[in-house]
Amino acid sequence: MIPSRLSMLTRPINKERGVCFFCSQCNRGCQVYADFSAGTCLLHPAMKKGKVDLYTNSMVRKVTTDETGKATGVSFIHKMDMKEYKLKARAVVLGASACESARIMMNSKSKSHPNGIGGDSGILGRYLHDSTGADRAAIMPDMINRERYNEDGVGGLHMYTPWWLDNKKLDFARGYHIEYWGGMGQPAYGSGGGMDSLRKYIKDEFGNPSQNGGYGEGLKKDIRKVYGSTLGMSGRGESVPMYDNYCEIDPNTVDKYGIPVLRFHYKWTDQEIKQAKHMQDTFEEILTNAGAILLGEKPGADTLYGLAAPGRIIHEVGTTRMGNDPKTSVLNSNSQAHDCKNLFVVDAGPFVSQADKNPTWTILALSWRTSDFIISELNKKNI
Ligand SMILES: Cc1cc2nc3c(=O)[nH]c(=O)nc-3n(C[C@H](O)[C@H](O)[C@H](O)COP(=O)(O)OP(=O)(O)OC[C@H]3O[C@@H](n4cnc5c(N)ncnc54)[C@H](O)[C@@H]3O)c2cc1C
Ligand code: SF4
Repeated sequence: MIPSRLSMLTRPINKERGVCFFCSQCNRGCQVYADFSAGTCLLHPAMKKGKVDLYTNSMVRKVTTDETGKATGVSFIHKMDMKEYKLKARAVVLGASACESARIMMNSKSKSHPNGIGGDSGILGRYLHDSTGADRAAIMPDMINRERYNEDGVGGLHMYTPWWLDNKKLDFARGYHIEYWGGMGQPAYGSGGGMDSLRKYIKDEFGNPSQNGGYGEGLKKDIRKVYGSTLGMSGRGESVPMYDNYCEIDPNTVDKYGIPVLRFHYKWTDQEIKQAKHMQDTFEEILTNAGAILLGEKPGADTLYGLAAPGRIIHEVGTTRMGNDPKTSVLNSNSQAHDCKNLFVVDAGPFVSQADKNPTWTILALSWRTSDFIISELNKKNI
Protein backbone atom coordinates (compact mmCIF):
# COMPACT_ATOMS: atom_id res chain seq x y z
CA MET A 1 0.00 0.00 0.00
CA ILE A 2 1.37 3.41 -0.94
CA PRO A 3 0.25 7.01 -0.34
CA SER A 4 -1.85 8.04 -3.30
CA ARG A 5 -0.06 10.45 -5.60
CA LEU A 6 -1.96 13.67 -6.14
CA SER A 7 -1.01 16.85 -7.94
CA MET A 8 -1.96 19.42 -5.29
CA LEU A 9 0.36 22.40 -5.12
CA THR A 10 2.58 22.98 -2.09
CA ARG A 11 4.05 26.13 -3.68
CA PRO A 12 2.25 28.77 -5.75
CA ILE A 13 2.69 28.74 -9.53
CA ASN A 14 2.73 31.86 -11.75
CA LYS A 15 1.01 33.89 -9.02
CA GLU A 16 -2.21 32.39 -10.35
CA ARG A 17 -2.31 29.00 -8.68
CA GLY A 18 -2.25 28.98 -4.89
CA VAL A 19 -1.17 26.49 -2.26
CA CYS A 20 -3.48 23.72 -1.05
CA PHE A 21 -4.93 24.56 2.38
CA PHE A 22 -6.46 21.10 3.00
CA CYS A 23 -10.15 21.95 2.80
CA SER A 24 -10.97 18.61 1.14
CA GLN A 25 -13.40 20.15 -1.36
CA CYS A 26 -11.54 19.32 -4.57
CA ASN A 27 -14.61 17.62 -6.06
CA ARG A 28 -16.26 21.04 -6.17
CA GLY A 29 -13.34 22.65 -8.02
CA CYS A 30 -10.48 24.23 -6.10
CA GLN A 31 -10.99 27.94 -5.44
CA VAL A 32 -7.25 28.67 -5.39
CA TYR A 33 -6.51 26.38 -8.36
CA ALA A 34 -4.22 24.22 -6.21
CA ASP A 35 -5.37 21.01 -7.84
CA PHE A 36 -5.33 20.28 -11.54
CA SER A 37 -8.39 20.59 -13.71
CA ALA A 38 -8.56 21.31 -17.42
CA GLY A 39 -10.86 24.29 -16.81
CA THR A 40 -8.69 26.11 -14.27
CA CYS A 41 -5.19 25.06 -15.32
CA LEU A 42 -5.46 24.86 -19.11
CA LEU A 43 -8.49 26.78 -20.35
CA HIS A 44 -8.16 29.73 -18.00
CA PRO A 45 -4.56 30.65 -18.93
CA ALA A 46 -5.28 30.06 -22.62
CA MET A 47 -8.26 32.42 -22.43
CA LYS A 48 -6.12 35.03 -20.67
CA LYS A 49 -3.69 35.04 -23.59
CA GLY A 50 -6.58 36.15 -25.74
CA LYS A 51 -6.03 33.51 -28.39
CA VAL A 52 -9.08 31.38 -27.65
CA ASP A 53 -12.68 31.95 -28.68
CA LEU A 54 -14.86 29.80 -26.46
CA TYR A 55 -18.23 28.73 -27.83
CA THR A 56 -20.31 27.48 -24.92
CA ASN A 57 -23.74 25.85 -25.17
CA SER A 58 -22.68 24.55 -28.56
CA MET A 59 -23.46 20.93 -29.34
CA VAL A 60 -21.34 19.69 -32.23
CA ARG A 61 -23.31 17.61 -34.70
CA LYS A 62 -20.61 16.68 -37.20
CA VAL A 63 -17.29 17.46 -38.79
CA THR A 64 -17.83 19.11 -42.16
CA THR A 65 -15.61 18.05 -45.05
CA ASP A 66 -14.84 19.10 -48.63
CA GLU A 67 -14.98 16.91 -51.75
CA THR A 68 -11.43 15.63 -51.10
CA GLY A 69 -12.45 14.40 -47.66
CA LYS A 70 -10.51 17.09 -45.77
CA ALA A 71 -12.16 18.58 -42.67
CA THR A 72 -13.42 22.13 -43.18
CA GLY A 73 -14.80 22.72 -39.66
CA VAL A 74 -17.77 21.64 -37.58
CA SER A 75 -21.48 22.25 -37.53
CA PHE A 76 -23.16 22.68 -34.15
CA ILE A 77 -26.55 23.30 -32.61
CA HIS A 78 -26.73 26.25 -30.25
CA LYS A 79 -28.48 25.00 -27.11
CA MET A 80 -30.28 28.30 -26.54
CA ASP A 81 -31.84 29.04 -29.93
CA MET A 82 -31.61 25.43 -31.22
CA LYS A 83 -30.33 26.71 -34.56
CA GLU A 84 -27.51 25.11 -36.50
CA TYR A 85 -24.26 27.04 -37.08
CA LYS A 86 -20.98 26.32 -38.82
CA LEU A 87 -17.40 27.03 -37.79
CA LYS A 88 -14.53 26.91 -40.28
CA ALA A 89 -11.16 25.46 -39.30
CA ARG A 90 -7.76 24.52 -40.71
CA ALA A 91 -7.64 21.58 -38.34
CA VAL A 92 -10.40 20.00 -36.25
CA VAL A 93 -9.53 18.48 -32.87
CA LEU A 94 -12.21 16.39 -31.17
CA GLY A 95 -12.02 15.97 -27.39
CA ALA A 96 -15.66 15.27 -26.62
CA SER A 97 -14.84 12.06 -24.63
CA ALA A 98 -14.34 8.63 -26.14
CA CYS A 99 -17.89 7.70 -27.08
CA GLU A 100 -19.02 11.20 -28.05
CA SER A 101 -16.08 11.79 -30.42
CA ALA A 102 -16.85 8.45 -32.08
CA ARG A 103 -20.48 9.54 -32.32
CA ILE A 104 -19.52 12.83 -34.00
CA MET A 105 -17.29 10.94 -36.45
CA MET A 106 -20.04 8.40 -37.24
CA ASN A 107 -22.48 11.25 -37.78
CA SER A 108 -20.01 12.98 -40.15
CA LYS A 109 -21.24 11.29 -43.31
CA SER A 110 -20.50 12.83 -46.69
CA LYS A 111 -19.73 11.76 -50.26
CA SER A 112 -16.07 11.39 -49.37
CA HIS A 113 -16.86 9.65 -46.05
CA PRO A 114 -20.05 7.64 -46.74
CA ASN A 115 -19.76 5.72 -43.44
CA GLY A 116 -18.66 8.71 -41.41
CA ILE A 117 -15.07 9.82 -40.86
CA GLY A 118 -12.99 6.77 -39.96
CA GLY A 119 -15.99 4.60 -40.86
CA ASP A 120 -14.43 2.62 -43.70
CA SER A 121 -12.07 0.74 -41.39
CA GLY A 122 -15.03 -0.94 -39.66
CA ILE A 123 -13.19 -0.21 -36.40
CA LEU A 124 -14.81 3.09 -35.44
CA GLY A 125 -16.75 2.56 -32.19
CA ARG A 126 -15.21 -0.89 -31.62
CA TYR A 127 -12.89 -2.08 -28.84
CA LEU A 128 -14.82 0.14 -26.45
CA HIS A 129 -13.75 -0.79 -22.93
CA ASP A 130 -14.19 0.44 -19.38
CA SER A 131 -12.26 -0.37 -16.20
CA THR A 132 -13.53 -3.27 -14.16
CA GLY A 133 -14.86 -2.37 -10.74
CA ALA A 134 -16.03 -4.15 -7.59
CA ASP A 135 -16.32 -2.93 -4.02
CA ARG A 136 -16.82 -4.11 -0.46
CA ALA A 137 -17.78 -2.14 2.62
CA ALA A 138 -17.05 -2.96 6.27
CA ILE A 139 -17.27 -1.56 9.75
CA MET A 140 -14.34 -1.50 12.17
CA PRO A 141 -15.87 -2.13 15.63
CA ASP A 142 -12.79 -0.78 17.43
CA MET A 143 -13.37 2.57 15.76
CA ILE A 144 -17.00 3.02 16.79
CA ASN A 145 -17.36 6.10 19.00
CA ARG A 146 -13.82 7.07 18.10
CA GLU A 147 -11.98 10.22 19.04
CA ARG A 148 -13.00 13.25 17.00
CA TYR A 149 -10.46 15.37 15.11
CA ASN A 150 -10.13 17.05 11.76
CA GLU A 151 -8.81 14.56 9.24
CA ASP A 152 -10.08 16.27 6.09
CA GLY A 153 -6.70 16.76 4.42
CA VAL A 154 -6.54 17.08 0.68
CA GLY A 155 -9.51 15.85 -1.28
CA GLY A 156 -9.42 12.65 -3.28
CA LEU A 157 -7.79 9.34 -2.66
CA HIS A 158 -5.26 8.92 0.18
CA MET A 159 -4.08 5.33 -0.08
CA TYR A 160 -3.56 3.03 -3.02
CA THR A 161 -2.42 -0.54 -3.62
CA PRO A 162 -0.91 -1.04 -7.06
CA TRP A 163 -1.31 -4.45 -8.76
CA TRP A 164 1.01 -6.85 -6.94
CA LEU A 165 0.56 -10.37 -8.35
CA ASP A 166 1.99 -12.56 -11.12
CA ASN A 167 -0.65 -13.42 -13.73
CA LYS A 168 1.14 -16.67 -14.59
CA LYS A 169 -0.10 -18.00 -11.26
CA LEU A 170 -3.66 -16.73 -11.73
CA ASP A 171 -6.68 -17.80 -13.79
CA PHE A 172 -7.25 -14.39 -15.39
CA ALA A 173 -5.30 -11.88 -17.46
CA ARG A 174 -4.40 -8.31 -16.47
CA GLY A 175 -4.68 -6.84 -13.00
CA TYR A 176 -6.31 -4.29 -10.73
CA HIS A 177 -5.42 -1.74 -8.10
CA ILE A 178 -7.22 -1.12 -4.82
CA GLU A 179 -8.57 2.20 -3.64
CA TYR A 180 -9.57 2.63 0.04
CA TRP A 181 -12.27 4.83 1.46
CA GLY A 182 -13.55 5.81 4.87
CA GLY A 183 -12.65 8.34 7.54
CA MET A 184 -14.35 11.44 8.86
CA GLY A 185 -14.17 13.70 5.80
CA GLN A 186 -16.77 16.44 5.78
CA PRO A 187 -19.57 16.91 4.78
CA ALA A 188 -20.37 13.17 4.79
CA TYR A 189 -21.36 11.50 8.05
CA GLY A 190 -19.44 8.38 7.15
CA SER A 191 -19.57 5.88 4.38
CA GLY A 192 -21.05 2.42 4.36
CA GLY A 193 -24.34 0.65 4.00
CA GLY A 194 -26.67 3.18 5.68
CA MET A 195 -27.73 3.36 9.32
CA ASP A 196 -30.17 0.45 9.16
CA SER A 197 -27.39 -1.99 8.44
CA LEU A 198 -24.97 -0.37 10.89
CA ARG A 199 -27.19 -0.05 13.96
CA LYS A 200 -26.68 -3.62 15.15
CA TYR A 201 -22.98 -2.86 15.68
CA ILE A 202 -23.70 0.19 17.85
CA LYS A 203 -24.10 -0.67 21.52
CA ASP A 204 -26.10 1.26 24.09
CA GLU A 205 -24.78 1.96 27.61
CA PHE A 206 -25.66 -1.63 28.66
CA GLY A 207 -23.76 -3.20 25.74
CA ASN A 208 -26.93 -4.13 23.86
CA PRO A 209 -27.48 -3.29 20.17
CA SER A 210 -28.93 0.18 19.72
CA GLN A 211 -32.72 0.35 19.74
CA ASN A 212 -32.76 3.91 18.47
CA GLY A 213 -35.21 4.56 15.69
CA GLY A 214 -34.79 5.98 12.23
CA TYR A 215 -35.22 9.66 13.13
CA GLY A 216 -34.75 12.22 15.90
CA GLU A 217 -32.20 12.38 18.69
CA GLY A 218 -31.56 8.64 18.80
CA LEU A 219 -30.62 8.58 15.15
CA LYS A 220 -28.27 11.54 15.64
CA LYS A 221 -26.57 9.77 18.55
CA ASP A 222 -26.07 6.62 16.48
CA ILE A 223 -24.67 8.59 13.57
CA ARG A 224 -22.16 10.29 15.91
CA LYS A 225 -21.04 6.93 17.26
CA VAL A 226 -20.63 5.27 13.91
CA TYR A 227 -19.08 8.28 12.17
CA GLY A 228 -15.56 7.44 11.00
CA SER A 229 -15.76 3.69 11.67
CA THR A 230 -16.91 2.48 8.26
CA LEU A 231 -14.46 1.83 5.49
CA GLY A 232 -14.27 0.06 2.21
CA MET A 233 -12.18 -1.16 -0.66
CA SER A 234 -12.70 -0.66 -4.38
CA GLY A 235 -10.93 -2.63 -7.08
CA ARG A 236 -10.38 -0.93 -10.41
CA GLY A 237 -8.90 -3.15 -13.06
CA GLU A 238 -7.91 -3.66 -16.64
CA SER A 239 -10.40 -5.26 -19.01
CA VAL A 240 -9.58 -6.98 -22.27
CA PRO A 241 -10.44 -4.81 -25.31
CA MET A 242 -12.82 -6.79 -27.53
CA TYR A 243 -13.83 -6.19 -31.15
CA ASP A 244 -17.40 -7.22 -30.25
CA ASN A 245 -17.77 -4.55 -27.57
CA TYR A 246 -18.81 -1.44 -29.45
CA CYS A 247 -21.05 1.57 -29.87
CA GLU A 248 -22.88 2.49 -33.05
CA ILE A 249 -25.42 5.05 -34.20
CA ASP A 250 -28.96 4.13 -33.23
CA PRO A 251 -30.91 4.51 -36.49
CA ASN A 252 -34.18 5.23 -34.64
CA THR A 253 -33.28 7.73 -31.93
CA VAL A 254 -32.08 11.33 -31.88
CA ASP A 255 -31.36 13.56 -28.89
CA LYS A 256 -33.23 16.80 -28.20
CA TYR A 257 -30.97 18.60 -30.69
CA GLY A 258 -31.96 16.18 -33.45
CA ILE A 259 -28.55 14.47 -33.43
CA PRO A 260 -28.57 10.65 -33.75
CA VAL A 261 -27.51 9.00 -30.47
CA LEU A 262 -25.34 5.96 -29.76
CA ARG A 263 -26.42 2.50 -28.75
CA PHE A 264 -24.07 0.09 -27.02
CA HIS A 265 -23.16 -3.60 -27.25
CA TYR A 266 -20.95 -4.81 -24.41
CA LYS A 267 -20.34 -8.08 -22.55
CA TRP A 268 -17.73 -8.86 -19.93
CA THR A 269 -15.54 -11.88 -20.69
CA ASP A 270 -14.47 -14.60 -18.24
CA GLN A 271 -11.25 -12.64 -17.68
CA GLU A 272 -13.06 -9.70 -16.05
CA ILE A 273 -15.47 -11.95 -14.12
CA LYS A 274 -12.62 -13.99 -12.62
CA GLN A 275 -10.80 -10.76 -11.81
CA ALA A 276 -13.86 -9.52 -9.87
CA LYS A 277 -13.96 -12.80 -7.91
CA HIS A 278 -10.31 -12.30 -7.03
CA MET A 279 -11.09 -8.75 -5.87
CA GLN A 280 -13.88 -9.97 -3.57
CA ASP A 281 -11.70 -12.71 -2.05
CA THR A 282 -8.90 -10.20 -1.48
CA PHE A 283 -11.19 -7.59 0.09
CA GLU A 284 -12.63 -10.22 2.42
CA GLU A 285 -9.20 -11.49 3.45
CA ILE A 286 -7.71 -8.06 4.14
CA LEU A 287 -10.72 -6.55 5.88
CA THR A 288 -11.44 -9.59 8.02
CA ASN A 289 -7.80 -9.96 9.09
CA ALA A 290 -7.74 -6.25 9.98
CA GLY A 291 -10.62 -6.85 12.42
CA ALA A 292 -13.41 -5.35 10.34
CA ILE A 293 -16.90 -6.84 9.95
CA LEU A 294 -18.00 -7.05 6.34
CA LEU A 295 -21.28 -5.38 5.51
CA GLY A 296 -23.84 -7.04 3.25
CA GLU A 297 -23.59 -10.41 1.52
CA LYS A 298 -20.46 -11.33 -0.37
CA PRO A 299 -21.35 -10.94 -4.08
CA GLY A 300 -21.34 -14.34 -5.79
CA ALA A 301 -21.41 -15.75 -9.32
CA ASP A 302 -25.04 -14.68 -9.80
CA THR A 303 -23.95 -11.00 -9.70
CA LEU A 304 -20.63 -11.63 -11.49
CA TYR A 305 -19.00 -11.12 -8.07
CA GLY A 306 -20.26 -7.55 -7.90
CA LEU A 307 -18.55 -6.61 -11.18
CA ALA A 308 -19.93 -3.18 -12.09
CA ALA A 309 -21.87 -2.97 -15.35
CA PRO A 310 -19.83 -1.74 -18.34
CA GLY A 311 -19.79 2.08 -18.25
CA ARG A 312 -20.32 2.35 -14.49
CA ILE A 313 -16.66 3.07 -13.70
CA ILE A 314 -16.80 5.90 -16.28
CA HIS A 315 -13.39 5.15 -17.78
CA GLU A 316 -14.65 4.45 -21.29
CA VAL A 317 -11.81 4.25 -23.83
CA GLY A 318 -10.93 2.75 -27.19
CA THR A 319 -13.61 3.77 -29.71
CA THR A 320 -11.22 5.47 -32.17
CA ARG A 321 -8.19 3.29 -31.53
CA MET A 322 -4.78 4.24 -32.87
CA GLY A 323 -2.49 2.03 -34.93
CA ASN A 324 -0.25 1.93 -37.98
CA ASP A 325 -2.65 0.02 -40.23
CA PRO A 326 -5.69 1.99 -41.48
CA LYS A 327 -7.54 -1.32 -41.86
CA THR A 328 -7.34 -2.09 -38.16
CA SER A 329 -7.29 1.37 -36.61
CA VAL A 330 -9.00 4.75 -36.96
CA LEU A 331 -6.09 7.05 -36.01
CA ASN A 332 -2.32 6.96 -36.34
CA SER A 333 0.09 7.25 -33.42
CA ASN A 334 -0.37 11.06 -33.37
CA SER A 335 -4.13 10.59 -32.99
CA GLN A 336 -4.58 11.87 -36.55
CA ALA A 337 -7.40 10.26 -38.56
CA HIS A 338 -6.03 7.90 -41.22
CA ASP A 339 -8.66 9.07 -43.70
CA CYS A 340 -8.72 12.79 -42.84
CA LYS A 341 -5.31 14.39 -42.27
CA ASN A 342 -6.56 17.51 -40.53
CA LEU A 343 -8.78 15.71 -37.99
CA PHE A 344 -7.46 14.70 -34.55
CA VAL A 345 -8.97 13.04 -31.48
CA VAL A 346 -7.57 13.93 -28.05
CA ASP A 347 -9.73 12.02 -25.58
CA ALA A 348 -9.55 8.35 -24.54
CA GLY A 349 -10.86 7.15 -27.91
CA PRO A 350 -7.32 6.51 -29.24
CA PHE A 351 -6.44 4.09 -26.37
CA VAL A 352 -5.81 0.49 -27.40
CA SER A 353 -5.73 -0.57 -23.75
CA GLN A 354 -5.80 1.25 -20.42
CA ALA A 355 -3.87 -0.90 -17.94
CA ASP A 356 -5.55 -0.82 -14.52
CA LYS A 357 -4.92 2.90 -14.14
CA ASN A 358 -7.47 5.67 -14.37
CA PRO A 359 -7.31 7.24 -17.82
CA THR A 360 -6.98 11.01 -17.43
CA TRP A 361 -3.22 11.47 -17.20
CA THR A 362 -2.73 9.34 -20.29
CA ILE A 363 -5.38 11.39 -22.13
CA LEU A 364 -3.41 14.52 -21.22
CA ALA A 365 -0.07 13.02 -22.24
CA LEU A 366 -1.38 11.86 -25.62
CA SER A 367 -3.11 15.23 -26.17
CA TRP A 368 0.16 16.99 -25.52
CA ARG A 369 1.91 14.83 -28.10
CA THR A 370 -0.88 15.49 -30.60
CA SER A 371 -0.71 19.25 -29.93
CA ASP A 372 3.03 19.30 -30.66
CA PHE A 373 2.41 17.29 -33.82
CA ILE A 374 -0.35 19.63 -35.02
CA ILE A 375 1.87 22.70 -34.51
CA SER A 376 4.69 21.06 -36.43
CA GLU A 377 2.38 19.95 -39.28
CA LEU A 378 0.81 23.41 -39.51
CA ASN A 379 4.28 25.00 -39.66
CA LYS A 380 5.28 22.59 -42.43
CA LYS A 381 1.98 23.39 -44.19
CA ASN A 382 1.18 19.67 -44.28
CA ILE A 383 -2.33 20.34 -43.00
C1 LIG B 1 -17.46 10.90 -11.38
C2 LIG B 1 -16.23 10.60 -12.17
C3 LIG B 1 -15.03 10.34 -11.51
C4 LIG B 1 -13.88 10.08 -12.23
N1 LIG B 1 -12.72 9.88 -11.55
C5 LIG B 1 -11.56 9.76 -12.25
C6 LIG B 1 -10.29 9.67 -11.59
O1 LIG B 1 -10.21 9.71 -10.36
N2 LIG B 1 -9.18 9.56 -12.35
C7 LIG B 1 -9.23 9.53 -13.71
O2 LIG B 1 -8.17 9.44 -14.35
N3 LIG B 1 -10.40 9.58 -14.36
C8 LIG B 1 -11.55 9.70 -13.67
N4 LIG B 1 -12.75 9.78 -14.33
C9 LIG B 1 -12.73 9.69 -15.79
C10 LIG B 1 -12.32 11.00 -16.39
O3 LIG B 1 -13.10 12.06 -15.85
C11 LIG B 1 -12.54 10.95 -17.90
O4 LIG B 1 -11.86 9.84 -18.43
C12 LIG B 1 -11.99 12.21 -18.53
O5 LIG B 1 -12.60 13.37 -17.99
C13 LIG B 1 -12.25 12.19 -20.01
O6 LIG B 1 -11.69 13.36 -20.54
P1 LIG B 1 -12.17 13.89 -21.93
O7 LIG B 1 -11.46 15.17 -22.15
O8 LIG B 1 -12.03 12.80 -22.93
O9 LIG B 1 -13.73 14.10 -21.79
P2 LIG B 1 -14.56 15.05 -20.84
O10 LIG B 1 -13.78 15.44 -19.63
O11 LIG B 1 -15.88 14.38 -20.68
O12 LIG B 1 -14.71 16.37 -21.72
C14 LIG B 1 -15.47 16.37 -22.89
C15 LIG B 1 -16.00 17.76 -23.10
O13 LIG B 1 -16.63 17.80 -24.37
C16 LIG B 1 -17.90 18.39 -24.26
N5 LIG B 1 -18.75 17.78 -25.29
C17 LIG B 1 -19.22 16.50 -25.34
N6 LIG B 1 -19.94 16.32 -26.45
C18 LIG B 1 -19.92 17.48 -27.14
C19 LIG B 1 -20.49 17.91 -28.38
N7 LIG B 1 -21.20 17.09 -29.16
N8 LIG B 1 -20.27 19.20 -28.77
C20 LIG B 1 -19.53 20.05 -28.00
N9 LIG B 1 -18.97 19.70 -26.83
C21 LIG B 1 -19.16 18.42 -26.41
C22 LIG B 1 -18.36 18.08 -22.85
O14 LIG B 1 -19.32 19.02 -22.43
C23 LIG B 1 -17.05 18.15 -22.07
O15 LIG B 1 -16.79 19.46 -21.67
C24 LIG B 1 -13.93 10.04 -13.64
C25 LIG B 1 -15.12 10.29 -14.32
C26 LIG B 1 -16.26 10.59 -13.59
C27 LIG B 1 -17.53 10.90 -14.35
S1 SF4 C 1 -8.01 20.33 -0.57
FE1 SF4 C 1 -8.48 20.46 -2.77
S2 SF4 C 1 -9.95 22.16 -2.95
FE2 SF4 C 1 -8.98 22.34 -0.92
S3 SF4 C 1 -7.28 23.76 -1.24
FE3 SF4 C 1 -6.47 21.67 -1.48
S4 SF4 C 1 -6.58 21.26 -3.71
FE4 SF4 C 1 -7.91 23.04 -3.28
